[in-house]
Amino acid sequence: MMMGYKIRKSIDMVSDMDKLVSLCKRRGFIFPGSEIYGGLANSWDYGPVGVELKNNIKQAWWKRFVGLRSDMVGIDAALMMNPKVWEASGHVDNFTDPLADCKKCHQRFRADMISDEHAKTCGGELTEAKLFNLMFKTHLGPVEDASAVVYLRPETAQAMFADFKNVVDSSRVRIPFGIAQIGKAFRNEITPGNFIFRTREFEQMEIEYFIKEDRWQEHFEYWLNQMKEWMKFCGLSEKNLHFYEIPDGERAHYSKRTVDIEYSFPFGMKELYGIAYRTDFDLKRHQEYSGKDLRYTDPQTQEKYLPHVIEPTFGVDRTLLAVLSEHFYEEEDRIVLKLPTPLAPYKTAVFPLLANKPQLVEKAQELLSDLSTTYPIAWDDRGNIGKRYYAQDEIGTPFCITVDFETLDTDTVTVRDRDSMKQERIAIHELKEYLKEKL
Ligand code: ATP
Repeated sequence: MMMGYKIRKSIDMVSDMDKLVSLCKRRGFIFPGSEIYGGLANSWDYGPVGVELKNNIKQAWWKRFVGLRSDMVGIDAALMMNPKVWEASGHVDNFTDPLADCKKCHQRFRADMISDEHAKTCGGELTEAKLFNLMFKTHLGPVEDASAVVYLRPETAQAMFADFKNVVDSSRVRIPFGIAQIGKAFRNEITPGNFIFRTREFEQMEIEYFIKEDRWQEHFEYWLNQMKEWMKFCGLSEKNLHFYEIPDGERAHYSKRTVDIEYSFPFGMKELYGIAYRTDFDLKRHQEYSGKDLRYTDPQTQEKYLPHVIEPTFGVDRTLLAVLSEHFYEEEDRIVLKLPTPLAPYKTAVFPLLANKPQLVEKAQELLSDLSTTYPIAWDDRGNIGKRYYAQDEIGTPFCITVDFETLDTDTVTVRDRDSMKQERIAIHELKEYLKEKL
């Protein structure tokens, strides 16, 4: 065991959530939105390293589920769609949560989730629950009348159904195949909270996988396994995951099987992702509401049918929160994010030992521009080396490279490993190979 090195203490208490939120702000992962104006309730902005982490998650997901597969294609649809989409999907009528007001403190609650805290602190009587539609409404164009109402999409999924025909007609996809999309979704949540866990504006990564009805069970299992593999890639440990098979009678009416994938967040076991067998419900409804024939024609048999659908859905922000909580370690004298290297915002950092020694700075900058062609690299010449390591540990940079006086004589640098804190002397000409192996 190394000096000063303590075995992981996982974040498992709400107070540790505060530490995570504070780290996120301090290091530029996530800031409170519009903070200089006092913020905007439950809105969050991703800062310089936060956006890198988020992009790495989205890019890795896209590569894995679209780029590397011949049975998947992507789309990027408009956020505002014809309101008929949301009538067909059932969102206009059914995308509601029960809302209740407290007669004493006048706070609003989701009637199905009255917080313990409220019961303890106020305990006031609640009004009868009424249904509240979660879709954000706005108006298209200058006239604010009913004919101009549009909604900000509450999920990315419906675009895959609305664009189904165009995708089939314009690409060479054959059943079984999937359409994927990454993008923003908006829900006027009654009780947002737990940092970026539940917000009113968030991002989703969704797949609609179109299949023949009789094969649904095998495709469901396959995609559930794919989701497990993805979570493994994100470094989420099995002990923190829970698979909740939604029982009959509790599923959405169109679903014949749904599994909620829950993660043990610092504030409890909560939904991270979901997978559902949606039958042919959506295509059928869109066919009915649009009057367009959305059937697929089998190229071999010429059989026409509405495909059935398996939907694996992933929240981007919840992935990021799970990744941060999972890899947050508080050790004796440092906090470190032991992020999987493909997700780390920077793969290495380069430091000149002293900022006021031009030879060191020049040499370090040479190294920086050379390595930057291969990896995102951080640069730091402030303070002392200890402080720089501390800062890089907190943003999860796997390696730090220091150019010192010995470098000028021997063309070697010190490479320090984030997790073990071990330092090695490496020749500059071997550095790329060394990093390639480690990263
Ligand atoms: P919940 O039960 O937590 O409200 P949901 O079952 O309504 O979630 P879905 O409609 O299945 O969620 O959305 C798919 C995914 O989108 C979720 O698994 C989650 O990762 C993400 N998600 C949903 N709502 C939010 C939100 N308000 N903020 C952040 N992510 C969200």
